[in-house]
Amino acid sequence: MSSVTKLGYASMAVGEPLKPFYFEQPEMGVSDVRVSVTHCGVCHTDIQAIDDFYGITEYPFVPGHEIVGYVSHVGEAVSGLHIGDRVGIGWQGRSCMDCEWCLKGEEQLCMDIVDSATWVPYGGFSSTVVADHRFAYPLPEALPSEVAAVLMCAGISVFSPLLRYARQPSLKVAIMGVGGLGHLAIQFAHGFKHEVTVISSSPDKEEQARALGADHFILSNDLESLRKRYFYFDDLLVTATGQIPWYYLLNIVKKEGRIILVSFPEISMHPRDLVAHNVSITGSFLGNRASMQEMLAFAQANSITPMVETMPMAQVNEAIARVKENKVRYRVVLVNEPVD
Ligand SMILES: [Zn+2]
Ligand SMILES: [Zn+2]
Repeated sequence: MSSVTKLGYASMAVGEPLKPFYFEQPEMGVSDVRVSVTHCGVCHTDIQAIDDFYGITEYPFVPGHEIVGYVSHVGEAVSGLHIGDRVGIGWQGRSCMDCEWCLKGEEQLCMDIVDSATWVPYGGFSSTVVADHRFAYPLPEALPSEVAAVLMCAGISVFSPLLRYARQPSLKVAIMGVGGLGHLAIQFAHGFKHEVTVISSSPDKEEQARALGADHFILSNDLESLRKRYFYFDDLLVTATGQIPWYYLLNIVKKEGRIILVSFPEISMHPRDLVAHNVSITGSFLGNRASMQEMLAFAQANSITPMVETMPMAQVNEAIARVKENKVRYRVVLVNEPVD
């Protein structure tokens, strides 16, 4: 049963472009499902992992963790999923189900998180993937597959902190950065009925940000406009990378306000205002299983629509190059030719 050879796209060593890679199908556990991949988004995390940015990559490395496909096999202990069901799978494909975090329902914080990645052993830039059925989410029928794919990582990464810290409506929320994460954060924050201000380094993104639901737009180098917003925001969600104006960011949140990082910008700040204003800075990683389900329902109810370009999976290196060159608005989704 495990001897069928499947095609994926793998990097064979640090930083190497992907090549067609034939692998033996991994054995399935009793709680696993095997999914025929139809769509897989290209996330910055995939590209960073090819370069071993996180220090956890094992080669050959098949990236891909914004997956949509159809269940093709189910393990003996699987309940609630059947062959032929359309499912989405995100970065987390399993968890230990036994550590303090899993028992609390915060599976994304599992102590075995590194081994819980969907790309262990092989990710979604492939014809098939295996995951624990508890991390394969049935998709609402009306949600197009390329849309659902992007929600599985980019979507949950920004929805989860809004759900946790900004669930009550009518807050003043700032979103820093308009990209794969930011363009979804704007839509979700608008869906939560917040007053949404976008802070971006690109003047050409203003029109787009407003179309996605932003009420206000501030250029990140417009320090005078930032100064006018001192002590204004309840929450500031940072989706940008690179150099950002920390001094001003610390001051535009209210006393006891919160800065939430979902990206990896350079951090450089004097802690004076952080301390004096009781400001919190927190990271936020993915979301738990309950929030995944809530996000899918929320996305459908609020017509959250990731902007995607699709490309054939065989053009994966071209897709990665477009992402690296910042040419994508705002996500590439790789599409597999249907197979038997
Ligand atoms: Zn991702
Ligand atoms: Zn665990």
